[in-house]
Amino acid sequence: MTKRLYMETSELSGSAQVLRCEADESGHFVELDATLFHPQGGGQPSDIGVLQSDNGVSARVLQVKDVNGVILHWLDAPIAAGPVSLQVDPAVRHQHAMLHSIGHVIGNIGQRHGWKPVKAHHWPGECRIEFMPEASNRDLTADEIEDALATLIQAQLAAQVHVDDKGLRWVGFGELAPWPCGGTHLASLAEVSGQVSAAVKLKKNKLVVKYDIESKE
Ligand SMILES: [Zn+2]
Repeated sequence: MTKRLYMETSELSGSAQVLRCEADESGHFVELDATLFHPQGGGQPSDIGVLQSDNGVSARVLQVKDVNGVILHWLDAPIAAGPVSLQVDPAVRHQHAMLHSIGHVIGNIGQRHGWKPVKAHHWPGECRIEFMPEASNRDLTADEIEDALATLIQAQLAAQVHVDDKGLRWVGFGELAPWPCGGTHLASLAEVSGQVSAAVKLKKNKLVVKYDIESKE
């Protein structure tokens, strides 16, 4: 099992040990004893970045996957077993954390209108959340979502992370209801760098909210 440093810290650089370097049809990959790289999953793409060994050999991290609790990092070049420094790409981490964090908030907005979030996908250009109606559901328009989001972003709600007795990690923003989550998040909605747009579709009783963030130039 790889120690998941990205669950405990928002640091983007650190160190670890390469336990093994092997290759498959996708290229070279390494197992580390601990990692700052968030693997693909939970509706998020993986982090990317760089590993550098003590003797100066470096490799770009192209893809990261959780394979039965072991986190594997696919590289553009092999890197020998031993100590390495880790550097997560900050711009990519920010974008993924931002889209994912906004997903949490849209889930909360839906819930306030009687819609239970059941599925979430936070990939750039593909963000969508699916909701099922609860007994008290009422209409929810794209304008209402955008207005509510603007208010909550303006309020600069801070991420609230809490690990319960069973080791489950709960993540919410401000007073909004938290959810169990292993993803990466902004420290605060103050870090949202762009204009959020939303689109809503009602499909056979299921509400689908698509959203994106247009960067502010
Ligand atoms: Zn999350």
